[in-house]
Amino acid sequence: MAKAPINPNAASEMTLLTFRFAPSPNGELHLGHAYSALLNQRMAARAGGRMLLRIEDIDVTRCTPEFEGGVLRDLEWLGLQWEKPVRRQSEHFAEYRAVLDRLIAEELVYPAFMSRGEIRAFIAETEKRGRDWPRDPDGVPLYPPLDKALPARERKRRIAEDMPFAWRLDVEAAMARVPAGLSWTEFTDETMSATRAIEAQPQAWGDVILARRDIPTSYHLAVVLDDELQGVSHVVRGQDLYSATSVQRLLQELLGLPAPRYFHHRLILGPDGRKLSKSFKDTGLAALREAGMSPRDITRLVGL
Ligand code: GLU
Repeated sequence: MAKAPINPNAASEMTLLTFRFAPSPNGELHLGHAYSALLNQRMAARAGGRMLLRIEDIDVTRCTPEFEGGVLRDLEWLGLQWEKPVRRQSEHFAEYRAVLDRLIAEELVYPAFMSRGEIRAFIAETEKRGRDWPRDPDGVPLYPPLDKALPARERKRRIAEDMPFAWRLDVEAAMARVPAGLSWTEFTDETMSATRAIEAQPQAWGDVILARRDIPTSYHLAVVLDDELQGVSHVVRGQDLYSATSVQRLLQELLGLPAPRYFHHRLILGPDGRKLSKSFKDTGLAALREAGMSPRDITRLVGL
């Protein structure tokens, strides 16, 4: 059943509503990011709430200080205003590690050793026998169940031998620990006047990666921990992350974190009708600025 919509101006709403824009500095910002950032700012302003910026740079090889500089420059140029200091995820690995250790101790994650090649071969073999292998909402084949069944001694041996691995969530075990009917509250539009309850389906993703051997977190883990730590009450982000919310709701439930409310907004599409990507230079904010566009032009271009 849908919860009653909140009235952002209600006096009973004791704490300020908190919004955030959370880019990954692994490329240049494009029109899609501009829309997301400006929409967050607009919703926060209407609600008299807070606006935060979070730099999601756990991928230390793809995220660079140069890209981060560009992100900040573009957002300032656009007129985005956010509270300081900015949280930079790469500065908080020890905090993520502590939570990962909890999940390891509770046997909710397991070390997964299969390489991409091994996964491909396993699936090809299974499909040869006429069985379609399930895929996640992004079309990626689910992780095979072999490593989950490895005896503890074998796991230890492989880790001691320095075999590469990732920590994967045992989604079946996790689902057994949370109450049935896991869901989230989604606003039906940006006015936040109505909500609906969406059933979370984390199993659709299989055993997702929660950390790597060298990076003690993943996007999913860092995002739920930071949203809670920063008191984010409203997660406003693109439709492309709609299905990912299922995994994040499961993690919040497992870790005893409160659930924010969500609004997954429309995506700005390229001329080919596809989602914009960071390699799509024409819609990069820096390129548009250099071509003489103003922040107002950008706002209009994204339909705000
Ligand atoms: N860092 C993510 C991205 O750039 C967004 C995460 C989120 O908004 O939850 O796609």
